[in-house]
Amino acid sequence: MTTALYFDPAQVQCTATVLQHKATADGWLLELDQTLFLPKGGGQLADGGWIDQIEVSQVFCEHDVIWHQVSRLPVSDHVTLQLDKDRRQLHSRLHSAGHLLGALGEQFGLQATKAQHWPGNAYVSFTLPSEIPPIDLSEWQQLLNQRILDDLNCKIEMKESGRHVAFGNHPGYRCGGTHVQSTREIGPVDLYKVKVKSGVLTVCYRLQGDIECC
Ligand SMILES: [Zn+2]
Repeated sequence: MTTALYFDPAQVQCTATVLQHKATADGWLLELDQTLFLPKGGGQLADGGWIDQIEVSQVFCEHDVIWHQVSRLPVSDHVTLQLDKDRRQLHSRLHSAGHLLGALGEQFGLQATKAQHWPGNAYVSFTLPSEIPPIDLSEWQQLLNQRILDDLNCKIEMKESGRHVAFGNHPGYRCGGTHVQSTREIGPVDLYKVKVKSGVLTVCYRLQGDIECC
C-alpha cells in the first residue's frame, strides 16, 4: 500500500522505498511505500517527475496498487522522488478551471456529467434539458474569467462520500485530483468550442501555456 503525498502542494521531493517491481515491454513498474505522483484517473493525467533521476513516464492504479513506470531500475530500493512541478501546475490549473466551468454550467441549469482536464484536450460535458437553452459562450467565458479574478480559495472537505472540492461558495464535486490553491493561479480561460450531440453539451477549454489544441 502506498501513502499518497500528492495532495500536499508543498511536497515536491521526498524519499521512498521500492516495495516491489516488475518488468514490462517498455521497462519497469515500481510500487513505492509513498509517492508524490498522482496516478492517471478522474479526467486528469498522471504527474511526472523522476525517481533517482530516472524519468517517470506513467503512473497508474491497478487493483489498488499505484505503479510508476520507468525505463530502468534504480540502483537501490531506497530512492529519491522529484516532482515535475510545471507539469503538476498545468494539470492543477486545467483541473481547477474544469471545476469552475462545471459550476458555471450548473448555474445555467445544466448538470455536469463528465470532464477531462488534459493539456490540449480539456472539456466539461453537461446533460441538456429537452429544450436546449441558448448558450452564449462569450458570456460564459466572461463569467468564468471573473471568477478566476475573484481569487476564490480551494476548499477541500472529507465527507462520507469521499474528498469534496469546491472553489469559494460555488458547487463542489467529489474529486481525487490536484487543484490550485486559489483561482488566480489558473489565469485566463479560453472557451474555444461547443459541441451538442445526443442531449449532451460539451464545452472545450484551454489555458495560457496549454499545448496547441485541435
Ligand atoms: Zn477536482
